[in-house]
Amino acid sequence: MIDTHSHLYDEAFAEDFPQALERASQAGVGHLIFPGIDSSVHDRMMECAAQAEGMASTAVGLHPTSVDGNWKRELDFVEARLAERKWTAVGEIGLDRHWSDSRFKEQVEVFRQQMLWAAEADLPVIIHVRDAHDTVFEVLDSLAEAGTAMRGVFHAFSGSIETYRRIQRYGGFLIGIGGVVTYKNAGVAATVRDIPLEEILLETDCPWLTPVPYRGRRNESSYLGLIAARIAGIKDIPVETVDSVTTASARKLFNLI
Ligand SMILES: [Zn+2]
Repeated sequence: MIDTHSHLYDEAFAEDFPQALERASQAGVGHLIFPGIDSSVHDRMMECAAQAEGMASTAVGLHPTSVDGNWKRELDFVEARLAERKWTAVGEIGLDRHWSDSRFKEQVEVFRQQMLWAAEADLPVIIHVRDAHDTVFEVLDSLAEAGTAMRGVFHAFSGSIETYRRIQRYGGFLIGIGGVVTYKNAGVAATVRDIPLEEILLETDCPWLTPVPYRGRRNESSYLGLIAARIAGIKDIPVETVDSVTTASARKLFNLI
């Protein structure tokens, strides 16, 4: 399996990163993708990826909740990193009205700019969206009209079938399913039933969004199998099928060997 959204480099794992990595490996997680957030965590992310010796790939991007008074300098940081080398993805990027609403206009500009850079660099994007789907779709509509190429993943998807269909219209976007799908009464379970398995990616978003039965504790990549098992249960298919199909999709989208 591939954990397509892991913050195992987060300071929540400052004490036991090597052990958490080993547990993930033991649990059948062969590869991790580390999404960027902002310049403050970048060095730690790169150190952890180096320690993971080929087991982790890295993305660079400015997260919407990190768009603050320093946003111009942070955006310059992303641009400079993108010029340095080929990354696995641009992300995570997007819009978030839930955690920070004060600089929403700037969030939109930052998101749009990074979408353009991803297109220029021919890279997939990792999109984070919370309480702002309409505006994300407005940005994507205007980019699509201008002929901008886009592909990537809507990470931590928790939406309705209507939201999924709207995403599907752009082509090239997959749906990241994480721990929320294991929660009782999670509406996303009904949506997952209708999303073709080929369009789903597995992710933990650790250390957040811990799946049942560990909900309330720190999440980690080794719990990825719980999410795969829940998807298998919802779709009434073998978990091995979920593992192999989602792994193939992740390899293709992120150009992993
Ligand atoms: Zn994340």
